[in-house]
Order: sequence, then structure tokens, then C-alpha cells
Amino acid sequence: MGATGDRNERLCQRCGKSGPTVHSRGRIDLIAELCDTCWNDLANRMAQHEGATAAPRPTPDPDDVTFLEPPRCALCHADIRIYPTVYDRWVSLAMTEFPAKVIPEHFRWRLVKIQAPHSPMVIDVVAVRVRGIDPLPGESVIPAHQMLCSDKNAERPLAKEPATPDTSG
Ligand SMILES: [Zn+2]
Ligand SMILES: [Zn+2]
Repeated sequence: MGATGDRNERLCQRCGKSGPTVHSRGRIDLIAELCDTCWNDLANRMAQHEGATAAPRPTPDPDDVTFLEPPRCALCHADIRIYPTVYDRWVSLAMTEFPAKVIPEHFRWRLVKIQAPHSPMVIDVVAVRVRGIDPLPGESVIPAHQMLCSDKNAERPLAKEPATPDTSG
């Protein structure tokens, strides 16, 4: 209910409501214009599907001069790299690249450098899952650590697209 006549207000592309939290989502390309609620829901589903369920990397404290330990897998204690995804969730990746042919499709990631507009300066690096066009067999990809994790309790991403039972709203 209520008047939504304000032409400047953006509408969430999912629930159709306007609100202060509706804005463009996605770190590289525009994913959609969504409100916080819809965005979190969508991002969580994408994270579940792709296995991007790592804890966010802590922001380094500039006053803290102690050496920041490289992240380790909480399960198998192997060294890992943690990167943000384009949808603001985090994924743990292996330290080394592998030829795409030895990595199952679901676990293939690559890193994309984001540059400041009109500047060669890299302002961010995000992890993007390789899909769509198949990489060449010899092309290098970075496997998700989940694939390499030696712990039997490691979370495995779902092999199929999650069903979207969106009847609650
Ligand atoms: Zn919404
Ligand atoms: Zn592990």
C-alpha cells in the first residue's frame, strides 16, 4: 500500500517495491537493481550454488603492524586464497592454477582485476566462476579449494542449479 509516485525512486526488479536500499548490484557488471532483502537472498543462493561460502577476509587494520597470516582452510589447514565474488560473497581458492581439463567445471574460477576508471591502477580483484564458453583444455583456471580440500567434512557446492521455490512472497 501507499503512494509510490516518486519518479526518482527506483524499483526493486524482484519484489517490485521501492525503497532506500534499492540500488545496482554487482561488482563488475550490473546484476540487477534490487533492495537489500532481495539482494541478500539472491547472493546467498548464488553463493550456495557456487560454493562461495568462505568467511570474508578481514580488513587489515592499518595500525596493526603484525604480519597478517595468510588464510588457511579451517578444515584441512592448507593455505588458501580468499577473494570476493561479484555478488559480495567470498570464496576460498587454491594457491595455484591448474589446466582447465583436470578441474571439474563446477570448480573453475579465475581472478578478474578491476581497474579504476581511466587509470591502470587495480582497485580490486574479484573471483569469477568460469562458465559459459568452455576454457581451452590447456587454459589455466584456479580451482575452488573445496575441490582439493582433504577434509571429508568440506562443504561441496551443489552440482545443480538450485530450485527456486519463490512462492512465499
Ligand atoms: Zn526487493
Ligand atoms: Zn581444506
